[in-house]
Amino acid sequence: DGPRTLREFVETTWAYGDTAFLIAGERRYSYGEFFAAASALAVRLSQEYGLRPGDRAVIAMRNHPEWQIAFWAAQLAGLVAVPLNSWWTEAEFHHALDDCEPGVLLVDGERLERVAGWARGSGTRVVLFRGLPGERQLPDGVSTERCELPDGVSVERYEDLPAPDPLAAPPDVEPRPEDDATIIYTSGTTGRPKGAVATHLAQAGAALNPRYQAAFSALGRGVVPGTVPAPVSLMTFPFFHVAAFTSFYGVMAAGGTLVLMDKWDADEALRLIRTHGVTHFAGVPTTALQLLDAAERTGDEPGGLTLFSTGGAPAPPALVARLTARYGERVEPRNGYGLTETSGGVLANIGAEYRADPGAVGRPTPVTEARIAGAAGQELPEGEVGELWLRGQSLFRGYWRDPAATGEAFRDGWFRTGDLAVRREGRIAVVDRLTDMVIRGGENVYCVEVEGVLHDHPDVLDAAVLGLPHPVLGEEVAAVVRLRPGAGTTADTLREHVGRSLAGFKVPARVLFTEEPLRRNAAGKLLKRELRTAALARTP
Ligand code: ATP
Repeated sequence: DGPRTLREFVETTWAYGDTAFLIAGERRYSYGEFFAAASALAVRLSQEYGLRPGDRAVIAMRNHPEWQIAFWAAQLAGLVAVPLNSWWTEAEFHHALDDCEPGVLLVDGERLERVAGWARGSGTRVVLFRGLPGERQLPDGVSTERCELPDGVSVERYEDLPAPDPLAAPPDVEPRPEDDATIIYTSGTTGRPKGAVATHLAQAGAALNPRYQAAFSALGRGVVPGTVPAPVSLMTFPFFHVAAFTSFYGVMAAGGTLVLMDKWDADEALRLIRTHGVTHFAGVPTTALQLLDAAERTGDEPGGLTLFSTGGAPAPPALVARLTARYGERVEPRNGYGLTETSGGVLANIGAEYRADPGAVGRPTPVTEARIAGAAGQELPEGEVGELWLRGQSLFRGYWRDPAATGEAFRDGWFRTGDLAVRREGRIAVVDRLTDMVIRGGENVYCVEVEGVLHDHPDVLDAAVLGLPHPVLGEEVAAVVRLRPGAGTTADTLREHVGRSLAGFKVPARVLFTEEPLRRNAAGKLLKRELRTAALARTP
């Protein structure tokens, strides 16, 4: 049942016609306009650019509406969409471009300089969206002045293309469910980014995951599924990250609206939530906590908000209680778990279950199966910590041109997530990443647990727990803590605070204070390797 390719999926959204799909500043795109624009670009990529099904189309832009047009144009043309991290440096772009060898680059002005060298060297054509670097921009991003295009690169400006015919049909290609739809690079917190390849069938599964979760949560609230109004969702994730896919797939499946932000800002987010009647907030834990800070500071009311969802990184358990204290029980809390390799959220802890167990990521969606695996791959009983293994429709098929890494990632048909997890009363809780766990004198210390307790302290703005070498214990537990401005809490007070909730061996032996924000990646994950190097430099 349901669409089996992303092309089939996006075609179902055409029926939403005049409903707003995207709102960005003053600009509003209806589903009809969006579909026409994506179809017209797809036709151009097929006919003028001569791109064939299976060719890669790289997308490197910030969260402009054109990102969505480019992504879905690629799907309508049967191309493999490769969304790249827009924060990357030139060298990082070059690594991924050499790896995936795209036939076209769909980029915005801010990215052009960083990919121009590669485009020149390989003779790859560029479609430029939204101005050039250094170009003066109106507040909504429309360019007003023209600058020089880089020499020796074939660049076509999207703004110069003829306006799309509202009835334009997409190209006549029909991807099969087993064809590749996307290559999404892992964030590389544990090594070089690897391109996770997902087929159309996998992405179509991912596109329906949010719908299952919406139905589950409606049932939990005693609402008949299907009678819930279409969501209006504030997009805080960068589009290139799979967490964003879960959000925009959910919106598109239900004919809802995505409200875009140029740049994350908590006060601006509150304003947009009010102005546009946003019903769904979804963000990484960091942005979610910042939004709660701003809401508490300004005494904000929930308004139309009905869902508050975090994902992409461990959420401190205290978040749910803060959310309920501020916005009451009407706003449903949700913690979604997923990876690049699962094409987005595949487990979720929702509503009353989440309030009852704020440290868990909940249950798999109906197209996902989970196993807590012991060393031999056997299923472990409830309460025992093992590696979380997953299988199901939305899983990737392997790493792009990397059979060795693909072979290591799968065992007996299961994908090994590299996360340590435990099952309790049917719910799954992620305790730490295998690579982050600290082993202190033979005892396992899960950094996520200690970070959660530190976050509970009112003076703590952010915290990272990591292992530092110790001559006798092997490793000792250390915490890097950023306090709220003006807070005077000492290391000993924080250690006592942790000691009240956790066993002595989990209490950080060292607490290092920092005034700088703790560096996190686009998915809100702490950059532990960097933090560890900096902490080592500060310890004798
Ligand atoms: P790399 O493998 O290159 O380091 P990455 O795994 O960091 O990349 P992602 O796919 O963005 O890239 O991250 C997936 C990981 O994020 C999961 O394995 C898990 O550790 C963490 N994660 C995601 N959602 C949650 C959540 N709700 N709670 C706890 N951890 C989460």
